[in-house]
Amino acid sequence: MIIILKSDVTQQQIDHVLERVESLGLRAHLSQGTHRTIIGVIGDEEKLRAEPLRAIPGVAEVMPVLPPFKLASRDAHPQSSVIDVAGVKIGGGHLGMIAGPCAVEEAGRMDTIAAAVRQAGANILRGGAFKPRSSPYSYQGMGEEALKILRQTGDRYEMPVVTEVMDPRRVELVEQYTDMFQIGARNMQNFVLLTEVGQSRKPVLLKRGMSATINDLLMSAEYILSQGNPHVVLCERGIKGFDPAVRNLFDVAAVPAVQVLSHLPIIVDPSHATGRPDLIPACALAGVAAGADGVHVEVHNCPEEAKSDGPQALLPEQYAELAGQIRRLAELMGRRISSPPG
Ligand code: PEP
Ligand code: MN
Repeated sequence: MIIILKSDVTQQQIDHVLERVESLGLRAHLSQGTHRTIIGVIGDEEKLRAEPLRAIPGVAEVMPVLPPFKLASRDAHPQSSVIDVAGVKIGGGHLGMIAGPCAVEEAGRMDTIAAAVRQAGANILRGGAFKPRSSPYSYQGMGEEALKILRQTGDRYEMPVVTEVMDPRRVELVEQYTDMFQIGARNMQNFVLLTEVGQSRKPVLLKRGMSATINDLLMSAEYILSQGNPHVVLCERGIKGFDPAVRNLFDVAAVPAVQVLSHLPIIVDPSHATGRPDLIPACALAGVAAGADGVHVEVHNCPEEAKSDGPQALLPEQYAELAGQIRRLAELMGRRISSPPG
């Protein structure tokens, strides 16, 4: 940790900072320049993190040397993590291809969509049973009935399944049916929920909040990891922008930026990032070109009848074309899409 002191700091204030640092059993190295004085602290940074050092008179800035997300950081774990979702690998050169409707609506429809995305090359089936909607009057999902349909459909097509859990009280229920929990953008900082899925050993797809920084995303991952669940996949799904031309702003740079900082895989979700089927293929490919470890796309066979997010759904044939392009691009980049086991 480096403590930068104010230009008008007094000797008494410097002595006070040194005393505080040394009282924690850490060594302080004072460096007095012509304009500024800095103190380098040697020892366990954790001890200082809890201290409100910035509140000490004379202190201008406190700069940690290590990232605050210890377990998620690449420093701690230089090798890229590979997350196994019931036999499907994501990360370290393996692409997760997650596809399915926004919401699970009805068994027949789920079957049609699953058959199509499986045939196209998707390796994980998605579908929401609990939907986080901006309006309490919008469709909220079918709950446990949807979980059953998703599970049965996944089993029929030998695909692992992922579904959103919004409520810490439902983690146990959702866990009975799913292979991977999804934590939605609106819940990225629901720390009680993160702690709860952290106590499970099932993989977690953690979506970036629409106003979350990359640091916030990695700190949320840290909540899960610190509970003992190492199986975390991150997802860039667009952040709030100012332009209504797109639903969100697809932050493609977040992919390599996260990979510099963290060993965790990161996938892209161009469906929620753009909200526009005509933009999804380009953004999906851009994500893979930028190094994403997978692509999450909403697919529906009759978008005009979809209960949620119909306007952004790709038709099965559009998804098939995109999946073929992703496969070719992945091969070009020395990566692959593993088939579900079975
Ligand atoms: C979803 O995946 O359907 C969803 C609601 O995603 P997000 O949390 O990214 O908005
Ligand atoms: Mn959706």
